[in-house]
Amino acid sequence: MIDVIITGAGPTGLMLAAELRLHGVHVVVLEKAPQPTPVVRALGLHVRSIEIMAQRGLLERFLAHGKQYRVGGFFAGIEAPWPDRLDTAHGYVLGIPQTLTDRLLEEHATELGAEIRRGCALASLAQDADGVTAELSDGSRLRARYLVGCDGGRSTVRKLLGVGFPGEPSRNDTLIGEMEVGVPPETVAAVVAEVRTTQKRFGVGRVGDGPYRVVVPAAEVAEDRSEPPTLEEIKQQLRATAGTDFGVHSPRWLSRFGDATRQAERYRVGRVLLAGDAAHIHPPLGGQGLNLGVQDAFNLGWKLAAEVRGWAPPGLLDTYESERHPVAAAVLDTVRAMTLLVSTEPGPQAVRRLLTELMTFEEVNRHLVGKITALDVRYDVGEGHALLGRRLRDLQLKRGRLYDLTRTGRGLLLDQTGRLSVEGWADRVDHVVDVSEELDVPAVLLRPDGHIVWVGDDQADLLDRLPRWFGPAGPAQAQG
Ligand SMILES: Cc1cc2nc3c(=O)[nH]c(=O)nc-3n(C[C@H](O)[C@H](O)[C@H](O)COP(=O)(O)OP(=O)(O)OC[C@H]3O[C@@H](n4cnc5c(N)ncnc54)[C@H](O)[C@@H]3O)c2cc1C
Repeated sequence: MIDVIITGAGPTGLMLAAELRLHGVHVVVLEKAPQPTPVVRALGLHVRSIEIMAQRGLLERFLAHGKQYRVGGFFAGIEAPWPDRLDTAHGYVLGIPQTLTDRLLEEHATELGAEIRRGCALASLAQDADGVTAELSDGSRLRARYLVGCDGGRSTVRKLLGVGFPGEPSRNDTLIGEMEVGVPPETVAAVVAEVRTTQKRFGVGRVGDGPYRVVVPAAEVAEDRSEPPTLEEIKQQLRATAGTDFGVHSPRWLSRFGDATRQAERYRVGRVLLAGDAAHIHPPLGGQGLNLGVQDAFNLGWKLAAEVRGWAPPGLLDTYESERHPVAAAVLDTVRAMTLLVSTEPGPQAVRRLLTELMTFEEVNRHLVGKITALDVRYDVGEGHALLGRRLRDLQLKRGRLYDLTRTGRGLLLDQTGRLSVEGWADRVDHVVDVSEELDVPAVLLRPDGHIVWVGDDQADLLDRLPRWFGPAGPAQAQG
């Protein structure tokens, strides 16, 4: 029997597959598309996702393909300087097209031994006490202990589970594509600047040295958004919105997207879980969907691995939903607020001016950037020190950087006292004795996702905390 079937080889499914493989879990990823899509949706990674890549030794690869920007303006496009004193060693936005992010994550997952089966669509599923039976669209069947739906906003898994997806429906569709233009760049820039004063869902701009990315409102909400628009439809909408079609030609790809905002009522039904867009969708303002999905996968991976490997303490897997559902709900709210702030109506414009003023206060700016970058995420891991539940930044230690020590995906005790021990959990938790000028507590215990679950210097207190996250002491028992 397979340990975990993942449906969907988007960024969420691929990140999850890699995280599971770090713990030796047998993973099969089912992807209905025979080839990776050429459609470029997300254009970058925010701080927390960049940190995640660093935690798994992937940052070099991403930096080699992306561009670093230290820019404000991610909160509803309000111009503001990049805040000082962000709690991170990776304080920038990494511009990288989603097609590359997907490719790098797929490489990482396959290097670790994940099996990705393209051209395989999940059609139905049934679960019982021991596992999940997945039926593919060709009628073949697979059996696994767990199945995770990372199959995007129109998730088959979510629908098969009958999990509600409440929220607001799409009211406005937008057409998007990459293509060439037939007019000089200055003409494009002048028209775009003029149109964007009243229409924010519009843009014609070059991505690096590549073709132009065209974004334009659609005439109506589509019945079936998987059907791409034609070039003629794009031209017609450009003329309707900007008075010119810029002579666009030679499209690389064309697509459309809606602005629905929805969240799954539950992230887990028995042995089946949901992550990424399958669990939450929202308009792309602020550029957070991919980031949120990667971060879901990072939270879920080690917990599901612990369950499969047999060392998960009771309730660990359920903390995936209790931790990640509120995070996505907060992002959805931020996006709702940003959607109003980009409206050109007088009321929202007045609120926007007010917020623009407020953002000149460093603390307000940092607070809002914390929402976009996910640096504000703090899980409820119990009362105590202010660091509890937060992820630890990439500290400079005597021997190097902290994140270079977290590539195995195990827990980590960072011990500045040299007097502590994780004996009994050594197969799940690494013990690093080192010091950092950036850490003013004696020791911290990190989960595999880098979140802090214990702070202190008392061995008895540590022994009390370890089982809560890493199960009982002694060699981990593999199930099955
Ligand atoms: C125009 C646009 C711009 C965006 N910009 C940003 C941005 O700047 N930053 C950001 O963070 N996010 C952005 N997003 C959002 C981002 O693209 C998504 O949030 C992200 O792709 C979600 O990843 P995922 O892996 O959860 O789902 P997906 O990427 O949708 O992947 C799901 C996969 O599941 C497969 N699948 C579906 N059904 C089945 C089935 N039955 N069986 C097998 N496989 C199946 C699909 O083929 C697909 O490959 C943008 C979105 C749009 C539309």
